[in-house]
This record gives sequence, C-alpha cells and structure tokens, in this order.
Amino acid sequence: MQQCSILAWFRRAVVGAALLFGTALLTACGTLEGVDLTPACPPGVGRGKWDTGSLKGEDAGMGSTEVRKLLGSPNFGATPQAVRDLEKRVVDKRLIAALRLLTKEHRICVQTFKEGHYFLPGVPDGPRIPEGYGKAGGLPNTHYYGRAADVWWVDGKPVEGNATAPGALEVGKILASIASERRPDQIIGPPTWTETLGYGRKRGWVLAPDQLGLHRDHIHIGYMNDGG
Ligand SMILES: [Zn+2]
Repeated sequence: MQQCSILAWFRRAVVGAALLFGTALLTACGTLEGVDLTPACPPGVGRGKWDTGSLKGEDAGMGSTEVRKLLGSPNFGATPQAVRDLEKRVVDKRLIAALRLLTKEHRICVQTFKEGHYFLPGVPDGPRIPEGYGKAGGLPNTHYYGRAADVWWVDGKPVEGNATAPGALEVGKILASIASERRPDQIIGPPTWTETLGYGRKRGWVLAPDQLGLHRDHIHIGYMNDGG
C-alpha cells in the first residue's frame, strides 16, 4: 500500500513537472519569435556544431578553458583554419577574451587568425606586412603572431554592405568599452563603420585611409604588442 501511494505521488509529480516544462517551453518559444537563429557563419563557411569534448582531457589549463567556452558558444563561428589556430593555442588570450565578450550578445564569425591569412594573394605571410599592402608594408604582422582576428560576418550578415547595421556598430561600441589595458589597439573596419562610430587612435582605431579602404569587407581586431 505504502509503495502504491508513493508511486501515485511520483506519477502526479511527473505529470506536474511535464506540464510545467511544457509551459516553460511555450513561454521560451514565445519570446524567441523574431529572433534569428541562423548560425554565426554563413552555410559552407563555418565549422558545424563544435564537439567541445575533443579539447577536454590532457590539460585543462586556463587557456583551453577559455577556448572551449568560446568554441562552445552558439554565437561564435569560425572557419576550420581559425578553429585549428584556437586548438593549437596560437591565439592570444586577450583576443579570446574580447571575442568571448562580443559573442555574449552578437554572433561573430572569424575567418582568420593566423593560418590561411594573406595580405596579398600568393604572398605567404611572415613576421612583417609585405610591401604593397597600402602603406603598412614593413610593419609587424599581428596575424602572424596570433594577435589578430578577421571578422567577416556579424549577426549572420557580411560586414561588407552592413557596416552601419546595428549589430556591426554595437560590436564597435563593445570593443571601445573594454578597459584600455585589455582593449585591442589595432581595430580596423570599413570606412562608414569607422566614421559612424567616431572613435580615434586612443581607443585603438586605425584611421589611415589606405587601411580603411583595405577593410571594406571585414573588421580586423588586433593587438600590436604581446601581452608581456
Ligand atoms: Zn586582419
């Protein structure tokens, strides 16, 4: 008898929980109406659902935890080459932290960190920017050191043609809000994006017209010096 009443109670509890869950689900779905759930990278560009299990194990250092959290975020997308750089710990921790901040509210697709980055077609990247890339030839190449990311898509839209869309502008404002010691100091984007935001060199923005012209289709987020 005792067992039966426990069973009956259990059954009531399960039904109650199911009803509650159903209501919660309906409420959640209601608020999700109108929210764009397309992935951070456009189809065929980004890696699919990331298996964060593959990074667990051998060592659970601070860096790998942050990388895992970034890769596990549905708001973060990256090309296979960019994912490989993250896996290989090539990417600067400050850059990972900045991307984590951006992906709290926006979908970000990183096309390149180090692997596969070219300033000029057919010219392999090295420690310095090659001559012929605007007036920046000879300057240190932050991509080469894993201290730069090229973001080609924000909130599912290409940066090119959407530079003044609310999402792209918000990304600029979030970058500007980072404390100076952790803020990227090499932020380059399309001319209209840069003009609309209106930040200067002190906030990390590069304003050289030749560079803006070379960044009509992506936002470059970089750190000029190593963290040490
Ligand atoms: Zn770049």
